[in-house]
Amino acid sequence: MVEGTPRIVVVGGGFAGFYALRYLHRRLAAEQAELVLVNPTDYLLYSPLLPEVATGVIEARHIAVSLRRALPRARLVLGHVTGADLAARTVTVTSAPASGPTEVTRERWDRLVLVPGSITRQFDIPGVAEHARGLKTLVEAVYLRDHLMHQLDAADAEPDTDEGRARRRERLTVVAVGAGYTGTEFVAQTQRWLRTIERRWNRTGAGDIRWILVDLAPTVLPELGPDLGLLALDLLRDRGVDVRLGVSVASADDRTVTLTDGTVVATRTLVWGAGVTASPLVAGLGLPTSKGRLQVDADLSVPGVPNLWAAGDAAAVPDLAAALPAATPPPTPPTAQHAQRQGTALGRNVAASLGVGTARPYRHRDLGLVADLGGRDAVAKPLGVPLTGPLAKVVTRAYHLYALPAMANRLRVATDWLWQAVLPPESTQLDVVRPEDARLAAAQGTRVYGSPAG
Ligand SMILES: Cc1cc2nc3c(=O)[nH]c(=O)nc-3n(C[C@H](O)[C@H](O)[C@H](O)COP(=O)(O)OP(=O)(O)OC[C@H]3O[C@@H](n4cnc5c(N)ncnc54)[C@H](O)[C@@H]3O)c2cc1C
Repeated sequence: MVEGTPRIVVVGGGFAGFYALRYLHRRLAAEQAELVLVNPTDYLLYSPLLPEVATGVIEARHIAVSLRRALPRARLVLGHVTGADLAARTVTVTSAPASGPTEVTRERWDRLVLVPGSITRQFDIPGVAEHARGLKTLVEAVYLRDHLMHQLDAADAEPDTDEGRARRRERLTVVAVGAGYTGTEFVAQTQRWLRTIERRWNRTGAGDIRWILVDLAPTVLPELGPDLGLLALDLLRDRGVDVRLGVSVASADDRTVTLTDGTVVATRTLVWGAGVTASPLVAGLGLPTSKGRLQVDADLSVPGVPNLWAAGDAAAVPDLAAALPAATPPPTPPTAQHAQRQGTALGRNVAASLGVGTARPYRHRDLGLVADLGGRDAVAKPLGVPLTGPLAKVVTRAYHLYALPAMANRLRVATDWLWQAVLPPESTQLDVVRPEDARLAAAQGTRVYGSPAG
């Protein structure tokens, strides 16, 4: 690298970071900019398909897109940025735990792009940090699958005594919190999957499992609008899922979950999908935030700090396409759809700061969301058109294949779906994740910021 080549440091290799770097790769020659990516893993995680990893339909690696292969010119630093000195133009990087003893280094930058995404929101509810399990990382998806199978194995082996029956009921109860896409897709898909492998057990069928899905909101899948939300709600209730709206969790321990209406549910499985909050890195920067997300202008630059940009789940990007005339634009919702397009816009605007092309504000009209509800069921609203059933399922799968950013991953996921249609379902446990490593703080890497949670 020629001395004096501007260094662009991108913090986060998810949707926004990946697409920003992809743009910069294509538009800037090596002598125009040095590209550095700091990310704790060497892959982009295609999180919309995590529920299918939790059911074993899709192999974990198939939704992990290789950053080194896709972005060969970027120097990948494996670790978390834990702080930034905006005056000295450096970031502090804490090495990824898997690399061995912790090392703390500094990276100098001339342009800094902050796209560290979000973490699962916990709301400081007693017991959640220790006993709830999220679905935001591959570790959590793989753990949840094995955990559920273990609960069914153990329930199946419980003796037919009063105590045994009580423990059996506990193990066969699943409480999921959050009826957005994470909680709803998880419940709907795992319920269907367990039906396909129920012959694995002698005394226990998938119908013996009690599914409870709770949310403070008055509807499920609010992202899809009231009509499709109602349809999804009816479908879940028809399948026997106990959907409780207007309530949440007051506390949890290793054997019970107490709801805010006072109901105490005996369970060993609490799945937490109650929304997201910006990466803890944002709070430590000392910059203005909006509901925890970093405030940015419409061109994704951070006001008042030269050469700093942010986007994705971590930033409150003004949604120009959703704003009413003369009204303050709301922030874009935390979705991959926005993060990906914001990444490309970021790339363009950072390149413009180096004299290549012209900066533009970010504007994108939402194309709608899709939700896979297991079996042949799905709900989707592509371009505002409401779809259900097999047609929605086809649209959902086609959308994911299109949105996966690497051909090799697309083919692998498509092949997983093909095998699912013709081969018996996978029903083995790998037990590669220890329960303590699946806790929210451990799995989502928030301990590096000195988080008190577990
Ligand atoms: C189960 C599930 C289903 C979803 N389904 C959909 C869907 O159907 N449609 C949709 O549009 N969206 C969906 N989403 C939301 C979507 O995944 C997010 O909105 C999107 O990933 C946000 O992109 P991002 O680039 O901001 O963050 P991310 O994609 O999360 O990327 C952030 C990256 O930064 C890394 N990182 C974090 N902290 C640091 C740090 N301090 N230093 C360096 N790197 C760091 C992370 O490890 C990660 O690689 C779903 C999410 C989940 C969890």
